[in-house]
Amino acid sequence: MDDCIFCRIVEGKLPASVVCRDDLCMAFMDIHPVNAGHVLIIPTDHVAFLADLEEDTGAHLFRLAQRIAAVLPKCVSQCEGINMFLADGEAAGQEVFHLHLHVFPRYRGDQFGFLWSSSISHIPERNELDNVAGTIRRAMDL
Ligand code: 5GP
Ligand code: ZN
Repeated sequence: MDDCIFCRIVEGKLPASVVCRDDLCMAFMDIHPVNAGHVLIIPTDHVAFLADLEEDTGAHLFRLAQRIAAVLPKCVSQCEGINMFLADGEAAGQEVFHLHLHVFPRYRGDQFGFLWSSSISHIPERNELDNVAGTIRRAMDL
């Protein structure tokens, strides 16, 4: 994908501060970090969305994310917690259309936060939750 910045990073045509890479995934520093230590983990083959990602590659990618998260508190001065975040689709906030998992340190009082507006305060009835759970379960052929 010539017009994909992350593919260009994988190919070495754009600079990146690489943590590690293997035959399936690559981890490098985000150029606009939420906090110091913000890592992006991507499949090395171009995949735009979760629906296109092989399950095995997804498992591999998450394993790498867990390993990075495990060492982050030792690697940066302010790391009291970790967020992992994946934006799948424009409506979910995806800006680079090569799938990536954000892993970044959090500390009390940092300036990052998800905005939960008051209109999201609805607490559904149990049967409503059960219905959606059943719909998802059936869609998964379980
Ligand atoms: P998204 O909003 O798609 O989940 O996140 C895209 C992320 O990619 C952003 O956090 C942004 O800072 C990062 N990013 C955009 N362009 C580049 C780049 O050229 N190099 C690196 N290392 N990160 C980038
Ligand atoms: Zn790409």
